[in-house]
Amino acid sequence: MTKHRLFLAIPSQVSFGILTLAALTLLLSGCSSTSTIHRASKSMSDDEVASLAKRIHERVLTIDTHDDISSDFASEKDDESSPDNRRQVTLHKMKKGGLDAEFFAVFTGNGERTAEAYESAYKRAVSLFDAIHRLPERHPALVDIAYSPDDVARIHASGKLVACIGMENGYPAGADLGKVKEFYDRGTRYITLTHSGHNQICDSSTPREGEPKEEYGGLSDLGKQVVREMNRLGVMVDVSHASKNATIAALTLSKAPIIASHSGASAVHEHARNVDDEALRLFKKNGGVVQVVALADYIKARTDSPERLAAQEAIRKEFGLPAGRGEAARKAMQAMSQEQRTKFRETLRELDTKYPRTSVTVSDMVDHIDHIVKTVGIDHVGIGTDFDGGGGVIGFNDASESINITMELVKRGYSEEEIGKIWGGNLLRVWREVERVAGKR
Ligand SMILES: [Zn+2]
Repeated sequence: MTKHRLFLAIPSQVSFGILTLAALTLLLSGCSSTSTIHRASKSMSDDEVASLAKRIHERVLTIDTHDDISSDFASEKDDESSPDNRRQVTLHKMKKGGLDAEFFAVFTGNGERTAEAYESAYKRAVSLFDAIHRLPERHPALVDIAYSPDDVARIHASGKLVACIGMENGYPAGADLGKVKEFYDRGTRYITLTHSGHNQICDSSTPREGEPKEEYGGLSDLGKQVVREMNRLGVMVDVSHASKNATIAALTLSKAPIIASHSGASAVHEHARNVDDEALRLFKKNGGVVQVVALADYIKARTDSPERLAAQEAIRKEFGLPAGRGEAARKAMQAMSQEQRTKFRETLRELDTKYPRTSVTVSDMVDHIDHIVKTVGIDHVGIGTDFDGGGGVIGFNDASESINITMELVKRGYSEEEIGKIWGGNLLRVWREVERVAGKR
C-alpha cells in the first residue's frame, strides 16, 4: 500500500534544481510505481498480466461488504481459522485469497409486525452480534473489528484481517428508533432497510406470497425516521433488497451517501434485486456506491434442463420440502437438522456435475462492474459478494478466489487506482462521508 508514497514523501521544499541524478532516478521510479501507471497494455503476455494483477491485488485494500453468518459463527462448531471450514468466507480463505476486510452480516428475516415477533428477531440479532464479537476474542492475532474507516486502515496496517459489522434487515428494531442506536453501539455500520417482504421500514423488491407489490410506494413514515436516525448516528443506509421506489426515496432523503451492499445492475441482468440505470444515476448524484454481488442468480439468466428440474423435484420430495422458494420452503429448511441440511445441500450439489446449470463466471460478474462504470463512472461501484448466502460464480465462489476479480479487471484495462476504488476505496469514501455527516469526523 505504501510503496508509491515514496514520491510524496520527498519534501516539497527540495527544489528540483538541487536534485541529484540519483534522486531524480528515485523520483522517477517512485513515479512509475504510482497507481495510474499500473495498467495492463496490449503488448503484455498472459504471465505479465497475471503478475501485474498479483502485485495490484497485494497493494489495494480489498473489502467485501456482505457475508452471511449463523449463530455458530466463531465457535467450536464453526472455527473460522480452520482450513477445513466449508464456509465461503473464513479467516483462512481471506488470507489465502488476499481479502483484507469483510462485513459480516447480522441477518434476520421479516416476520409479523407484533411486539413478540420483533422481540424474537431482536434476540436473534443480538446472538449474531455476539457471534461476530467472538471472532477477535478467539483469534486475537489474526483479526480485529473495525468501527470506522480509520480502524480499517489501522488494523490492516498492523497485518491483521479486518472484520466489520453490517446488519441485513432493520426489522429487529421494531417500532423503536432507540434500537437503531443500540445496534450502532453493538457495532453495526450499515443497516439493510429490509429483506424479502415488506417490513415496517420500507417496501421490498421481492414481496412475499400474498403481499401487494408495494405497501408504501417507498419508505414508511417510520422508515424515514430510521434513515434520518442512521444519518445522525453514522450508519450507512443499505438499499439492497429494497424496492426501486424505496431505493429512490432513501437516495433522495439521506443526507449522506448510501450503499447497496450486495446488488447487481438490472441492465446486465433484469432481476428485482438489481439496480436499474435510473437509480444508478441517483447513486452518482447521492455520492453512494453499488457493491456488485457474486450470487449467480442475480448475475445472469439461467435455464435449467428438464432433467435437472425433475431431479431437483425428486430431491425436494425426498427431503420432504414444499415446492418453491417461499416462506413455507424457508421454514421447512429451518426445521431440518444441521445434518439433514448438509446432506440436502450436498445432494443438490451432485446435480451440478450430472446436469450442469448455465455457467456464471467471473467475467459475467465483472460485466456488472463494467456497466456501472460506463453508466456513472468509477466512483460508484464496489464488491459485496453475499457469500454463505449464495455464490455459484465459477472462479469466484469463495474468498480464497478473490484475486480472480482483480485479474479480470486488469485484463479489461483497469488501472491500479481504479481497482483500488472498486475493491474498497469507494466504500471507504462513502463511510467517511457518512461519519462526517454524523459529525464524527
Ligand atoms: Zn441479501
